[in-house]
Amino acid sequence: MEEKENGPTITFDDFKLNRQLLNAVADAGYTVPTPVQQQTIPLITAGHDVMGIAQTGTGKTAAYVLPLLMKVKYAQGTHPRAVILSPTRELAMQIEESIRLLAKYTDLRFLAIYGGVGPKTQIEEIKKGIDILVATPGRLMEIYMKGDLILKELKTLVLDEADKMMDMGFMPQIRSILEVIPRKRQNLLFSATMHARIEKLSEEFLEFPVKVEVTPAATPVETVSQMLYQIPNLQTKLNMLHYLFRNEEIFTRVIIFTRSKKNAEVVAEFVNDSARGTVRVIHGNKGQNMRINAMEAFRSGEVRFLIATDVASRGIDITAVSHVINFDVPMIYEDYVHRIGRTGRAEQEGASITFATEAEIHHVREIEKIIKMQIPEASLPPEVEVAKTKFAESQEMALEVDKQKRRTDPDFKGAFHDKKQHLHEGVIDKRTGRPFEEKKPTKIRGFRRNKS
Ligand code: AMP
Repeated sequence: MEEKENGPTITFDDFKLNRQLLNAVADAGYTVPTPVQQQTIPLITAGHDVMGIAQTGTGKTAAYVLPLLMKVKYAQGTHPRAVILSPTRELAMQIEESIRLLAKYTDLRFLAIYGGVGPKTQIEEIKKGIDILVATPGRLMEIYMKGDLILKELKTLVLDEADKMMDMGFMPQIRSILEVIPRKRQNLLFSATMHARIEKLSEEFLEFPVKVEVTPAATPVETVSQMLYQIPNLQTKLNMLHYLFRNEEIFTRVIIFTRSKKNAEVVAEFVNDSARGTVRVIHGNKGQNMRINAMEAFRSGEVRFLIATDVASRGIDITAVSHVINFDVPMIYEDYVHRIGRTGRAEQEGASITFATEAEIHHVREIEKIIKMQIPEASLPPEVEVAKTKFAESQEMALEVDKQKRRTDPDFKGAFHDKKQHLHEGVIDKRTGRPFEEKKPTKIRGFRRNKS
């Protein structure tokens, strides 16, 4: 790492870490602490509550794991003295891996517990004695409620990817956990984004926190080039994938993000049929082992394509991803940053390509506000066959557009009904999927988009 503008380079030796940890850091190949580590490690070591705003890929895990290992020091007693909460199983496992890497010269006992597998083995492990527990909130509470986990020795609580935790609706579980753990403890909160919600959570959860922000909230990684294509419908998006993936030399290792499990399956089937190079899918319905195997196959280069939903994708740490494709625009706008952060890691050039239908373009504009830049746009290559928009898909998109308009203009009554008429007549513009002239306004009641 280069010299800091206002001082000499900080090294791991500058932190109050013991020899075991420094040796493990050296074995891990970490020569220079990353910016988040430089700022956070001294604060945590000094006992502060810390709120860290850092994306995955910045070294944030080691930024809290190292001082935590220093604090917990050696195996003692039976009950965990530190708990790290993670929104997903993948991230929990990745945190456990970081601990394994950095605690290798200590006798510390650590374990990751998460849902999707039976709790029996996890409970048996806990009973043997644990110093650091990594857990998804639901599973932690489940085991606690069974009486198989004692939390009264807890001295440190870490909330990792707190923004995701909130997005996934874990607040009730987190509040329950806060109620049953000792009040006197050190709290660390990490989030990829600095949202008003996170600020509020930190007020509830942290005491006189010191805030560390390594990159401005929601700034895309600089090494990632971005491109946007407006594509009228799902089939044309698939055709575009087919077109892109013919170029095997450029699209070497691709993650395709979809909004829903259903789309993940549709894309997987299509890519498997049309492109050479095998495909794996990860989403919430896949069993734990299948997800692990899929990630491993992708990591090792055995498969060229990984198809993932946002929830399943948190915690994926795979370098040398050549392209991230947003097959669907994420509805949680910060996920855009997380998604494209999968490429352009470790100083490598990466590219992100976003497909947006007319209904999705509204969300692209919102994302652009967050990332404070306009995503460059290109028109669909002429070789890509533009398919006719299916009736149900048109309807869904028209409803979505109506909803967006109603949100920005409370007087807008909706044009969906008219569109439906036109759609029956088959006069929708197949290339753009553009909505029709608004005629008789019809109020649509009770429609909710299927949030899968
Ligand atoms: P994280 O942001 O915690 O997901 O870390 C991203 C990646 O950076 C992981 O693969 C870590 O092993 C790696 N890493 C963490 N700290 C350092 C460091 N100081 N030097 C080099 N790599 C690091």
